[in-house]
Amino acid sequence: MSIENRLPPDEYKARCKEVLQRDGWRCRLCGRRNTLHVHHVLFRSRGGKDTLNNLLTVCYLQHEQIHKKELILFGDANCFVTVQDKKKQIRYNV
Ligand SMILES: [Zn+2]
Repeated sequence: MSIENRLPPDEYKARCKEVLQRDGWRCRLCGRRNTLHVHHVLFRSRGGKDTLNNLLTVCYLQHEQIHKKELILFGDANCFVTVQDKKKQIRYNV
């Protein structure tokens, strides 16, 4: 985990708000409007940055699946992110 990729806490909080606003305060995967988290498309642990194109809004349900690696995400969150669903063996863009 590299510390230089991280925004200071206050700026990160503001960045998360920008992400939520861009995504219309909805989970990009299922449209849920509650229990929203901001997720790093490329994980922080793999050098993912706190940039708008690496952050997207997901609900806790999908967030859990992502971290269990049932869903694999890649792409540019400002444009579209490809979701690979390992269980259903499907791929879609959000
Ligand atoms: Zn969701």
